[in-house]
Amino acid sequence: MVRSHHKRKREFVPIGMKLEDVFHILETTGNLKPLQPKFPSNLAQKIGEYCKYHQVTGHSIEQCGALKNAVQDLIDQGIVDPTKLDD
Ligand SMILES: [Zn+2]
Repeated sequence: MVRSHHKRKREFVPIGMKLEDVFHILETTGNLKPLQPKFPSNLAQKIGEYCKYHQVTGHSIEQCGALKNAVQDLIDQGIVDPTKLDD
């Protein structure tokens, strides 16, 4: 198995949009769905910003590493063209 890139840090294609807007577009097109919350809502953090992707409070969607990776996956697979997102 050749894994020549396994030590490289993942490079994210700059999209030039807020992640919230990217998520909204990809949710509308059916390419992304919000994750199921890991915890019952009564155990979730009640403070901090709400992440629409994780559906939990505690971090902003703009800081959501999981969403960044999910978007980059779609770009890597050729499903999403970052230059055409806001058309
Ligand atoms: Zn998140």
